[in-house]
Amino acid sequence: MDNYQEKKLFTPGPLGVSNEVKEAMLRDFGSRDSEFIAIVKEVREEILKIAGVSSEIYTTVLLQGSGTFAVESVFQTVQPDSNGRGLILSNGAYGNRMKKICDVARIPADILEFPEDGELQLSLLQETLRRSAYVLVAVVHCETSSGIINPVEEIGSLVKSVLPGAMFFVDAMSSFGAIPIDFEAGHIDFLVTSANKCLQGVPGFGVVLAKRRVLFQCRGRSKSLSMDLVDQYEGLEKNGQFRFTPPTHALLAFQRALQELSAEGGIRSRAERYKKNSLIVLSGMRDLGFKTLLTVEKQGAIITSFLYPTHPNFNFDEFYRRLSNLGQLIYPGKVTKTDSFRIGNIGHLFPPDMRYLIKCIERTLHEMCIPIPIK
Ligand SMILES: *Cc1c(COP(=O)(O)O)cnc(C)c1O
Repeated sequence: MDNYQEKKLFTPGPLGVSNEVKEAMLRDFGSRDSEFIAIVKEVREEILKIAGVSSEIYTTVLLQGSGTFAVESVFQTVQPDSNGRGLILSNGAYGNRMKKICDVARIPADILEFPEDGELQLSLLQETLRRSAYVLVAVVHCETSSGIINPVEEIGSLVKSVLPGAMFFVDAMSSFGAIPIDFEAGHIDFLVTSANKCLQGVPGFGVVLAKRRVLFQCRGRSKSLSMDLVDQYEGLEKNGQFRFTPPTHALLAFQRALQELSAEGGIRSRAERYKKNSLIVLSGMRDLGFKTLLTVEKQGAIITSFLYPTHPNFNFDEFYRRLSNLGQLIYPGKVTKTDSFRIGNIGHLFPPDMRYLIKCIERTLHEMCIPIPIK
């Protein structure tokens, strides 16, 4: 334990968290402990406040597992019967994963795909919605594979204007807590995030915001017991407990993480910090000669994809390993058509961390005998 190296995570998750968040976990709780039950209730209410929605209209359901489990739980819970189909909009790996979840679970769904470095074309969506009466439309907010931000409010209002009865589901895994989302304007029925992205808790559970009326309509549809959000909701409401072993330590960390978000000044202040982080990386990397996958207008502040340099000495695995030895963890790319790597700006990262990362990247390029500015 003494000689482990502290690493800074410039990744899309898991993310670094504060020492205080880690220290909050130094207590054991039983699942029926009244203090623990009060913490679960508190964080469920706090999430609604962060989202800016009323507890009469929305509720928070927490579900054990990583973010993908929570995405899958929404599809399981709302799944259309044999006459209904879902539509998934995709411009990247996380949109494609939604389709895969539906395929594996045999939930009828179509995918409307757009280029990984491009925007969703709303005119095409409109045409598609007019042609088929989808009962569910799903989209990713920040497509973490590239860093592009999709306009969920616009998409949601378009969906409801063409198909008023359709449900609208947003995967806001890597954006909730750092990009304000207008639930009313977007007519959002379900939104999913995780404890360990911009909310800066530790991994262990997903967070689902659900419109109560719509959630209750879904009672009995799920073909999975553990992923049934109606059942999970009813457990949490009845006695405040999770149905199955709760992630007690992760919830203690989460309570602390939400207090830190509030102390930082809420979503807008956190967004500003991430924006500052991202601008330091963008200008530092540009000075070194790196190019971004996305154009400036499309680039969000959550994560940035950079193209591989063309110099023959560049080898991503070596670049990654050298940076890791300096305590700096970056992430491989996730777009399929272009060789790229990613630098995340989210989590417990501050401007000095970003400046130090750029220094380490410069040093690593020198060590790899790649002239700066790179080509
Ligand atoms: C991180 C992430 C997920 C979930 O990933 P897990 O590895 O299951 O936590 C889903 N969607 C998006 C957009 C993400 O960024």
